[in-house]
Amino acid sequence: MKRILFIVSLSFLVFAASSCNREEAPTNIILLIGDGMSFAHVQAGIISSETPLNIEQFRHIGFIHTYSADNFVTDSGAAATALATGVKTNNGYIGMDPDGNPVRSILHIASDNGLATGVVVSCAITHATPAGFYAHQPSRNMTEEIALDILDAGVDVFIGGGRNHFENRQDGRNLLEDLEQMGYQLAFSMEEVMEAGSGKLAGLVAGGHPPRYSEGRGNMLPDGTEKAINILNRNPGGFFLMVEGAQIDWGGHDNDVEYIVNEMHDFDRAVGKALEFARNDGNTLVIVTSDHDTGGMALHGFDSETGEVTAGYTTGGHTGLMQPVFAWGPGADAFMGIYENTGVFDRMLAAFGFSRN
Ligand code: MG
Ligand code: ZN
Repeated sequence: MKRILFIVSLSFLVFAASSCNREEAPTNIILLIGDGMSFAHVQAGIISSETPLNIEQFRHIGFIHTYSADNFVTDSGAAATALATGVKTNNGYIGMDPDGNPVRSILHIASDNGLATGVVVSCAITHATPAGFYAHQPSRNMTEEIALDILDAGVDVFIGGGRNHFENRQDGRNLLEDLEQMGYQLAFSMEEVMEAGSGKLAGLVAGGHPPRYSEGRGNMLPDGTEKAINILNRNPGGFFLMVEGAQIDWGGHDNDVEYIVNEMHDFDRAVGKALEFARNDGNTLVIVTSDHDTGGMALHGFDSETGEVTAGYTTGGHTGLMQPVFAWGPGADAFMGIYENTGVFDRMLAAFGFSRN
């Protein structure tokens, strides 16, 4: 009996040791960004939920400074550029350094190294946060140019709104035809997205931004995350996926805690899809972070009967508050501590074992 126990515990040790070695380099990274998702937004989401949030499962947690190259308070363009490329830039810039030189993102670098890549967002796919991962433009407002950039970026799967920026354009081009010629399956609703096969996928499920969760967006973000993972995971070389809960920020701008909480819970369901895959896979690093605080929200009260949160705000814009980073899986330790938002890129690059060029 003792002998059997010894063998069992020994094989457990061997297994633990081998999974430890494997831990150094993830094959896949899923980066989930809650736009404007500061500490109060996370806490409001947690306390107003009847069940624990997925985000509560993380154990490796850090803080990032978010200031941009030209302002203590960043916008989402400069913040996305910092997270995606490791370069601080001016507010409003997308995938460019402060001198206007294009800089390559972790998505571009992953694609160059044979990884499959994806972007899933609850806003237009051309909006500042996703654009920071595939585009190079001096203004986040150049949505037509940003849409053109996605054709060059090697994004295998993208799901979001913004169909208008592809087909109803000032330049008269119809980029949907280009995408089709490039071999993309086109999907114009979540039903079509979920029916898509294994190839490249352009999911443009709204003309502009998809509606807020409380107004009928449905499970677009978590379902889109799951679908993207299923397609990207067929690439034996691994994948990089960016998922954005875009409208947490818009609830912050509106100083509307109910909007924030609904969007937090939706985003957390997408986090749950990523963790569920990572748990089964064993070689996937999941990172959850925020680009900046929106609203300067503080929590003043909570009614445990109704689940209602009472909040106060310091602004209708963004603030310069540090932001949380949560990491899970191989390489997660590196994301603990206090560092710059550009350090998220640095740590992802190191986890993959890639270099900038
Ligand atoms: Mg955003
Ligand atoms: Zn904002």
